Amino acid sequence: MPKTHCLQPGTPVLINELPTQGKMFHPDREAAEAEFSTLRDELIVLQRKLYAENKRRILIALQAMDAGGKDGTIRKVFRGVNPQGVRVTSFKAPSKEELAHDFLWRIHRPVPANGMIGVFNRSHYEDVLVVRVHDLVPEAVWRPRYKMINDFESMLVGSGTTILKFYLHISREEQRTRFQARLEDPHKNWKFSLEDLEKRKLWQSYMAAYQEMLERTTTDMAPWYVIPADQKWYRNLAIMRVIVQKLRKLNPQYPSPAIDLSGITID
Ligand code: ATP
Ligand code: MG
Repeated sequence: MPKTHCLQPGTPVLINELPTQGKMFHPDREAAEAEFSTLRDELIVLQRKLYAENKRRILIALQAMDAGGKDGTIRKVFRGVNPQGVRVTSFKAPSKEELAHDFLWRIHRPVPANGMIGVFNRSHYEDVLVVRVHDLVPEAVWRPRYKMINDFESMLVGSGTTILKFYLHISREEQRTRFQARLEDPHKNWKFSLEDLEKRKLWQSYMAAYQEMLERTTTDMAPWYVIPADQKWYRNLAIMRVIVQKLRKLNPQYPSPAIDLSGITID
């Protein structure tokens, strides 16, 4: 698999064979952390330009099993980035009003505006994951959503949004360790929920749902990145690399002044 962990459209995905161990890709934690911190400095500068340019938008979607590291990723990757230019939206179980609309209704409004980075902590993909595994709607309702999602994302990309989709892939064993820490560490108790244990019992059904989601919604314009996420330091680096590479390519520019500033004096 290439270093970016990017899936290829049209290629079958075998999720149980995709690596969860980042340390297989990077032997040296200290070096990884140093690279991460250098890249974050670069991200801070690139984001400042993206915001000033005020033309393009970046949407970052994070999906993972419980304790997969979505919160930690957001905390680490965006530390120091101007909060004004980043908006995080967390998608919980839909409200009554949201359920009375199509599944993309609540998703469209918080997509990023010009100059913004929008981060989705969970996303429209829940509607082919939790919804499928827990039979919240019949298959005849969720199955057509793959195409609807691809069409929706194609519209966003066609309108100037860059989409980066990360699936943080942890092993079942690593989830156990993290749940155990939530039970034992008073600072983490608040994150523990019995519902998470119910979902853990359905691990294989979730993997099947993730696998099909990755396969059907990896497109040229918005592929999935499957990030080995058992080691947080590697997860952070792998995601940071993708974001910075993408921003370098976009190469945002400060707008040139609309007037000639050279003769202006401030008294
Ligand atoms: P953490 O990982 O830190 O616990 P979280 O994202 O799990 O955070 P919770 O409030 O614990 O936040 O859970 C949100 C719940 O909402 C998840 O169980 C998720 O599956 C569920 N959810 C999100 N979107 C949908 C949806 N469209 N339909 C049904 N359930 C959804
Ligand atoms: Mg949770």
